[in-house]
Amino acid sequence: MTSVQNFHAELAWLGGNTATADVLIEVTGDRITAVTAGVPAPADAHRLSGLTLPGLANTHSHVFHRALRGHSETGVADFWAWRTLMYQVAQRLDPDSLYALAWATYAEMALSGITSVGEFHYLHHDPEGAAYADPNAMGDAVVRAANDAGIRITLLDTCYLQGDIAGAPLEGVQRRFDDDTWQDWAARVERLSDAAMLRVGAAIHSVRAVPRTALEPIAEVAQRRGMPLHVHVSEQPAENAACQERYGLTPTQLLAAEGVLGVHTTAVHATHLTAEDIALLGRSRTNISMCCTTERDLADGVGPAVRLMRAGSPLCVGSDAHAMIDLWEEARAIELDERLVSGTRGHLQITELLAVLTSAGAASLGWDAGRLTVGALADFVTVRLDTPRTAGARAGDPLAAAVFAATSADVSTVVVGGAVVVEDGRHATVPDTGAALDAAISAVLR
Ligand SMILES: [Zn+2]
Repeated sequence: MTSVQNFHAELAWLGGNTATADVLIEVTGDRITAVTAGVPAPADAHRLSGLTLPGLANTHSHVFHRALRGHSETGVADFWAWRTLMYQVAQRLDPDSLYALAWATYAEMALSGITSVGEFHYLHHDPEGAAYADPNAMGDAVVRAANDAGIRITLLDTCYLQGDIAGAPLEGVQRRFDDDTWQDWAARVERLSDAAMLRVGAAIHSVRAVPRTALEPIAEVAQRRGMPLHVHVSEQPAENAACQERYGLTPTQLLAAEGVLGVHTTAVHATHLTAEDIALLGRSRTNISMCCTTERDLADGVGPAVRLMRAGSPLCVGSDAHAMIDLWEEARAIELDERLVSGTRGHLQITELLAVLTSAGAASLGWDAGRLTVGALADFVTVRLDTPRTAGARAGDPLAAAVFAATSADVSTVVVGGAVVVEDGRHATVPDTGAALDAAISAVLR
């Protein structure tokens, strides 16, 4: 018989406009089996002091980019120059060094309140482009890393077939990404299967990296297996120009024409869109993964997030290139960037921003999580309300303080599937996460 664990939250967000006091969350196995408000803590309860929310979903990660933090913020002129630097790191990784880097980075994510990550994974093969003995050795490395760091992973196994939109062959480090054909990609992905902490998902790298003829077949594979499907869309104006020249369509129009958009699809970035693109994405209820701190760092531009949401697209967030790992900042940036662009305040409600962080992200990644309700996976995070950043919020609006002032450093407790992964701001199995990151990064950059 599985025993029941009791967690007692001083304050919890149960989906409404205000935080609820004294919430008892009962967990059986890895799911929530009761939520009761306004009750005292039982003697055996695990006390959660502060504000408890559903766990945060990081919908867009390239985990190995974490090695570039502190090495690429200055002296690199634009996105394309930054990509050259990123490729130098990609060239050096093997399954062991990727595991070490991913394990430490996912531990950093757990410390920031992230309970699930969507890993947009395209580093499939060895440095010469040949398959490893296990063709999924690199994917397995990131999956094991997430498991060992205690967070859920949706492995968005990425199809990447060509060097540019005209079909140039992949060269240099890009050969590591290359599955030759969409059929070879599908055969490799067929060998992967879901587990308690793993969802297998699909990704189309971009309309640059996948030929038009492969788009619909990849979408069909994802649909047949019930997998989430992610795709980079219009991060850079150059992608739009190349797509118009090649197909006479915007990337969004091309994806719509090939049946890629829909409720199980997530468009990543969606920065440079036309009014028709926004309508196509919204009408199809395609999810949008905003990666605001990366878009800032790479000078991508400010995407039309609010118009997309009003058109019907759920918004979620990702830390992408990991210039920082702080989803609180990603979410509030959606609202604050819109204020800068529009000259007005108050675009998204606090509850909408909380959904961006939690339920919308979980849905994009295919997890039955992101809400503190009976039956959901028992993934939750507690934010302290007594730190220099959050103090005073108990008497005001703790939800607003969490969204507009809290940082990763204010997270005290993280629970994933009923397991306490972070306690008092320390990772249970990676207690010196900084040292683990240092060791993994210096091994890669040596
Ligand atoms: Zn990306």
